[in-house]
Amino acid sequence: MEKLLVVSALKDDCYIKNAEHFLAKHAEDVKAGAEKFAQMSGAKILYLLPEGVTAEGLENVRYGMKTPTGDNPYSCAQQLKGNLPRPMIQDDYVAEYDGMEVNVITVEGAFWLAKGTEIKHITVNGEVKEIAMGTKISDVVDASDAKAVLIGGLKGRLVAPDQLDDFVVSTDFLYDSVDVIPKTACIVETLIRHLNNVWNYSCGKCVVCREGTLQFKTICEEMTAGKAKPADVDLLKDVGQLIREGSYCPYGQNWPQAVLDALDLFADEFDSHIKRKQCPAGVCYQAGDTYVILPDKCTGCTDCIDECDELAIEGKKGFIHMIDQALCEHCGKCVDICDEEAIIKVDGKMPKLPKKLTRVGKF
Ligand code: SF4
Ligand code: SF4
Ligand code: SF4
Repeated sequence: MEKLLVVSALKDDCYIKNAEHFLAKHAEDVKAGAEKFAQMSGAKILYLLPEGVTAEGLENVRYGMKTPTGDNPYSCAQQLKGNLPRPMIQDDYVAEYDGMEVNVITVEGAFWLAKGTEIKHITVNGEVKEIAMGTKISDVVDASDAKAVLIGGLKGRLVAPDQLDDFVVSTDFLYDSVDVIPKTACIVETLIRHLNNVWNYSCGKCVVCREGTLQFKTICEEMTAGKAKPADVDLLKDVGQLIREGSYCPYGQNWPQAVLDALDLFADEFDSHIKRKQCPAGVCYQAGDTYVILPDKCTGCTDCIDECDELAIEGKKGFIHMIDQALCEHCGKCVDICDEEAIIKVDGKMPKLPKKLTRVGKF
């Protein structure tokens, strides 16, 4: 059977722009690498580019959609036939298009064949950088104002800024992008936007990957609306593991990791959204509906406790009182009873509040 070498520029995602950079700046090198590879196997070359992207000097160009399976021969063959880009992973499976056996090389692979592997392209906060092998990721990105760093886009990991030294660029380095999540961000709201993108890029071949994304997103949305339950964190962890184990291709096997990382790194922030119905970053939760007791004003007189029909106010004489956001119905009745003006409806960023009963003057 004749052979077709598909040079694919479709494997990037919304965080990774490397392929477009290769085509704009290194099309000649990509072409040289592809020709070298094709010569070895006697294959005909076809370039598969994202819609709207052009590259000078390339012939036999076809277009498709970006997909995490853009390096899988069957997925590429499906796109060439006008179908959805769904992969086939079996070792002995031969993908076919137009009577030819399809092999795939990525544009990065072709570039490396032509130029060697001394540099790696990594998209850093949306901008493609050429980085020498052996460089630590901590030297590539300014993480001084980072809450966390997403390494590797939709298939990547979420790490704390002080973990960046552990990531060193090499030919085995799996990650093609680095994105700083600023300290001001809410991790739950960030995950919702991230999961939206994860869903957009899943091909729908497996139910666990496709439906799992939606389920994750729904739970995170419930967290920002004050409707999530404490058990939801364990549910996310369990389902995340199931998706990793039950998904057909590396996309589904990897995308839950960033969510699992977030649950570990920011357990307090998830707890705050779920149990106290507060967004510590003051970003996502409907702060205008939240009543709180200001710890520096409360004298611990207990007057407000009886005013609340929902039994939402916790406290005892001489202790700073607290409102249980899971029980509060936002009626506002307690505001007027407090002579100290300690009970307020929050407008904007949440004030710092005690997590347990604390003596007046000790917070
Ligand atoms: S894991 Fe996701 S992207 Fe991969 S084949 Fe299944 S549905 Fe498609
Ligand atoms: S919030 Fe006001 S009414 Fe309630 S215990 Fe504190 S000072 Fe008293
Ligand atoms: S706003 Fe209403 S429900 Fe909430 S703590 Fe005050 S009195 Fe109770």
